[in-house]
Amino acid sequence: MNLADWLNATARAKPDAPAIFEGTRLYATYAQFAARAKELAAGLQAAHGLKAGDRVAIFMKNDPTYIELFYAIWWFGGVVVPINNKLHPREAAWIVENSGAALLVSDDGKVGTNAELPQGCVEIATGSPQWRALSSHGKGGDTPAQVASDDVAWLFYTSGTTGRPKGVMLTHWNMRVATLAYALDVDQPGEEQATLYAAPFSHGAGIYNFVFVRVGGRHVFPASRGFDPNEIEALSRHFGATVMFAAPTMVKRMIEAAKRSGYRGEGIRTIIYGGGPMYAADIDEALALFGPRFVQIYGQGETPMTITSLRRELVADAAHPAWRERRASVGQAMACVELRIATDGDEKPAGEPGEILVRGATVMKGYWRNEKATAEAIRDGWLHTGDIGRVDEDGFLTLTDRAKDLIISGGTNIYPREVEEVLARHPGVLEVSVIGAPSAEWGEDVVAFVVGRPDGDCDAAALEAWCRAEMASFKKPKRYILCAELPKNSYGKVLKTELRRKLVDG
Ligand code: AMP
Repeated sequence: MNLADWLNATARAKPDAPAIFEGTRLYATYAQFAARAKELAAGLQAAHGLKAGDRVAIFMKNDPTYIELFYAIWWFGGVVVPINNKLHPREAAWIVENSGAALLVSDDGKVGTNAELPQGCVEIATGSPQWRALSSHGKGGDTPAQVASDDVAWLFYTSGTTGRPKGVMLTHWNMRVATLAYALDVDQPGEEQATLYAAPFSHGAGIYNFVFVRVGGRHVFPASRGFDPNEIEALSRHFGATVMFAAPTMVKRMIEAAKRSGYRGEGIRTIIYGGGPMYAADIDEALALFGPRFVQIYGQGETPMTITSLRRELVADAAHPAWRERRASVGQAMACVELRIATDGDEKPAGEPGEILVRGATVMKGYWRNEKATAEAIRDGWLHTGDIGRVDEDGFLTLTDRAKDLIISGGTNIYPREVEEVLARHPGVLEVSVIGAPSAEWGEDVVAFVVGRPDGDCDAAALEAWCRAEMASFKKPKRYILCAELPKNSYGKVLKTELRRKLVDG
């Protein structure tokens, strides 16, 4: 089964249903969407000699062309290689080379002019004469190419916060199962819904396109091609029933904007958050302002968007005796995976932290051309996520940290997330990130980087007093570094490696 079969089926069942929007402007119906995918597929094959299994890299901001291109590539059995648009052209060129893509599609041809592309790889800019010429090769195959379920559909490059990114091989089957799990564990999809691509299409937002193609929902690409809370408000009011994936930092920005504007989430059906820690203080505030519109997911590229979910009724349920713990958790294992907590093969009982292992049909086929990394990540059929967490008696998983972020001070494990949760509750704190700094005496010292609210009161003395009243003294930060912002990657994840470097560099 080819992922493009779903587009074909929807286009035949509901040809006139609106499919793609650019802002509020209708860009394509489902019939036009499928016709465009076929036509582009024909052009890519005829003009560039592409065939099943070939990789096509995409380095673009969110745009209707992005989704058309995805389905064109799958239509002939190719593999999409979406590249995070915020990467440096040189980093993008590295991914192009690693993936062995013969073609790179970009907004403006910017990779080749700023970096060296691998030999034999052609870059075309959307809107260029070569791009337009792709439409002149006829209609293309009437139905998508047949592929095997374990053929690779998407090479998902990890964010590579340490070392080079790795290409996660996601198959047509992986994506299909992840999509089925959405309807069971995340939200009930419907054709009246509009999915807003406010987060990068190369990542989680793009992975959520399938369910909406399947049900014939609307795909809305904000005209700004980026993330703007005011635009999201306007689009949500316009379309109603909007659904979007948002990193916690995006949710936080939406909430800050809503506090100023008085917006209370009208038109938004669901905000699916995940990809990084959502602190209890932040989700409490989001719920107070927007109501029960939130679902949390925990996943990673290696098992896309599918490890656990915390459904809307559980996020919002304040009547349950364990609601605080549950809201701070990432929920229960999704229907498509099994979960285990173990460290070095030693399975942990309920309540004890260990590495999170996952097994199931959404787990990647492996890393592209990297058997060594694959063998390290998947052992005895279990994906080793590198995340630490604990599961309670009811199966709710609470994430503590990435294994590499754990702080060991005086021989005791300190989970930065715990310290961050406490500091995030301080009224003067906007954002916080906690790391371990090398210490001759203790091995590591706890150091907190804090961004204060413009109108708040948060100097080091106030934070120290707050922590003293709230946590065991061995966990308390030894230093508070106030800064204007935290370094983040383009998916909104705080780059702790950068913070560590800052400390070393002074
Ligand atoms: P990526 O592969 O870029 O999507 O990054 C996945 C990583 O993000 C996971 O291994 C976790 O460390 C982190 N992550 C994902 N979802 C959550 C979540 N809901 N809460 C906290 N961290 C998360």
